[in-house]
Parts: sequence; C-alpha cells; structure tokens
Amino acid sequence: MTKSQELFARAQKTIPGGVNSPVRAFKSVGGTPLFMERAKGAYMYDADGRRYIDYINSWGPMILGHAYEPVVKAIQEKSLGSTSFGAPTELEIEMAELIVSMAPNVDMVRMVSSGTEACMSALRLARGFTGRNKFIKFEGCYHGHADAFLVKAGSGVATFNIQTIPGVTAGVSVDTLTAPYNDIDAVEKLVAENAGQLAAIIVEPVAGNMGCIIPAPGFLEGLRAICEKEGIVLIFDEVMTGFRLAPGGAQQRLGVNADLVTYGKVIGGGMPVGAFGGKREIMQHISPSGNVYQAGTLSGNPIAMIAGYTMLRTLNDNPVIYKELDEKTEYLHKGLDKALSKGNLPFVINQLGSMISVHFSDKPVIDFSSAASANNTYFNRFFHSLLDQGIYLPPSAFETWFISAALTKEDIDETLRAVEKAVLS
Ligand SMILES: *Cc1c(COP(=O)(O)O)cnc(C)c1O
Repeated sequence: MTKSQELFARAQKTIPGGVNSPVRAFKSVGGTPLFMERAKGAYMYDADGRRYIDYINSWGPMILGHAYEPVVKAIQEKSLGSTSFGAPTELEIEMAELIVSMAPNVDMVRMVSSGTEACMSALRLARGFTGRNKFIKFEGCYHGHADAFLVKAGSGVATFNIQTIPGVTAGVSVDTLTAPYNDIDAVEKLVAENAGQLAAIIVEPVAGNMGCIIPAPGFLEGLRAICEKEGIVLIFDEVMTGFRLAPGGAQQRLGVNADLVTYGKVIGGGMPVGAFGGKREIMQHISPSGNVYQAGTLSGNPIAMIAGYTMLRTLNDNPVIYKELDEKTEYLHKGLDKALSKGNLPFVINQLGSMISVHFSDKPVIDFSSAASANNTYFNRFFHSLLDQGIYLPPSAFETWFISAALTKEDIDETLRAVEKAVLS
C-alpha cells in the first residue's frame, strides 16, 4: 500500500470523499488520488516521495512554477505584520491600481477570496445594475459553485455526470438560460425570446472547463454586439484566462471588451483570491458606494494581496514570460501531435497560449457536446499511463492543462516520451 492510499483511506473518515474539492478525488479517471507533500518549480512530490512533472499547476495559479521565491519571501515577510486586519491597507490600493493598469476596461476592482465569489458577485451586480433577473451562460462553462451557475456547469459537474444538483432549487436556477458554446444563433434566439429581461451574458472567453475550447471567430464579437444593442452586461469570466493569456487576459489577447470581468487563480499567486472589476458606471453600484451588497471578512487580506501583487508585478514587468509560455506550449503541441499520431486513435489538440488539452475524438471539439462525445475512457487510460511515468495531468478529460514558466524543454521532451509510450502500449 502506498502512503497516498493510506492517506486517502484515512481522509475519507473525516472529509467527505477524502478531498476538499471534488475533481481531486480521481473519480473520473479511477484510482487513488496522490497526496502531495511539496512542490518546487515544475515538479511536485507526493507523500511517497515520487516526483511528477506538473501540468495542473494548482489549476492555473502557479504560472511561474511552484514556490516561486519572490512570492514565498513576500508572504513570509508580510505575515510578521499580522495575517489580517479587517481594515483597509495601502497594499489593497496598490493591488487595485496594478490590476487596473494591466486589464483593459477595468476602471475599478473589488477583491474577494475565490473565483466563485467573484462570479457570484459580478452576476448580482449585473442584476442590480440592470434591474433584470435572467442571464445566459454556456453549456460546459464553469463559473464557480454559486447556485445560479450550477446548470450545465462543465468539468467538475460533467466529470460526475450530475445533471440536476440536489440543493439547488428551481427558484434560483429558473433565471439561468443556457446556450451551446460558440453558437451565436442560439444566443440570438434566447435574447429575442427574453427581450428586456436579460441582465447578463457570462462566458469563459476561452473555455477551460470542458478541456480547452477556443472561441470561434466572431463568437465573442457577436456577444459583444448583442449586449451593446440590448443593454445586457457582458461578463468575461477570466478566472482561468486572466493574467495567463496576456497581462490583460483574454480581453487583451482576443481584442474583445467586456463590461465586467472576473478573476481568480493567477491573481492570488496561490493564495485564495478572486476579484471582479469593470467599468466605473457599473462598479459604483457595489456597496458601500452603491446599494448592491457585497462584502468579505478576509477580502483584501494582506498575505493574499502580497502574494498576488508580487505575482502580477512579475508578470507585468516581464512580458517576455508570455512569449516563452506560448513557445513552450506550442512546442508541446507539436510534440503531442507527433507522439499521439503513433497511436491508432484519432485525437484533437486545442491550444491557445498556455492553455492546451487533448480529446480523443475524430471531429473538432468546439463545445460541450463534442467534448463529451470524445473517447474519455481512453483518456483515463492515457492519464494513468502518464501518471505512472511521473507526468501529472488533470485527472479528467474535461480540464485544460496549464503550462508554467518553470517547465523546461527537457521536461516537455520527457513528457512526450511518456506520451509515445502510453499510446504505443
Ligand atoms: C476555477 C474557476 C472558477 C471558480 O474559482 P474558485 O476559486 O475555484 O471558486 C470560476 N470560473 C472559472 C472559469 C474557473 O476556471
């Protein structure tokens, strides 16, 4: 029995399912989740002392690799001056100013403690601002686990094949309308049917919770135009893409403007941080300047802020990081193409910037139904073969792989050798 197996058995006695977030449990791919002990750069080490090349990077935050020294040092120093005040600090202004300077269309920003909170609050704000109730989300997009979003909600939910979720009442989901990703006609139809009733359209500008799905040309621009015409708030959920695809996230990279943007993951440098921001005329409706209520005891927490600030500052001051991330991911993409071609199953690689995923499918993967119809049983075998060879992929075919700046070409070559071995066996 491995240490991870022992720990997993023990964990299940006091933690539901043995984990504090469902996808970690390996339920979709089978087997025992690995319990991690430490990580440095591109490598994670499990409780049995085995080393893994990490393609999850904490689901995105560790874009500079694990235990990035300036972040670790900043946390250490800052914690000596207390871990929380519950009162405003200058650091929060610096963080807000930095975010505003990096992100297009963000005049003001409110810090929260998770991506879930950011999306939940942005939706409330859009509703409060427009005085309308309904909103559109896309099948397979994940916007955190607030009730209203748990309708056709991507990875975690898809992994467990849950359709309706106990505890989410019809009352809270009745105003959630869904359309297939990349289907602008479906959106137009919904908008026509619900004229004057839509507060928001929320979208992952590059979807990352059904594998990586690239927006079709014109899709985001189409949403922008519809929102403009109908007075609907366009919310980009950039929890995954923010500060990852460019200093200004998907908005900058794809050249489409949102009215509100949500952040998480990279923004906290590995600490629990989220944020939502946008145009001043909308953001001013948040309490205490407006009457759309939103609050948080640990929002803007000094340790979380110094970690996030140090991370964002590094990214902002070294734009070459993005170029290198793109090059590495393209190198991986090309290598995967070659290695997977040696197997006998059709595959699709979707990639944009440092987000990439593999679906075992013979047709393009452009939305949730094409992602779900891929050969996910084969993905699970692929996953385990790689894991056995020390390569740590997300434990579900419905997740994006995240590349970190710490990953080297040698690491990628090692990964590609493992991929070749996996598809040949
Ligand atoms: C991870 C994620 C969230 C939720 O963020 P948490 O910090 O896990 O609450 C929301 N939206 C997207 C696009 C995400 O990838």
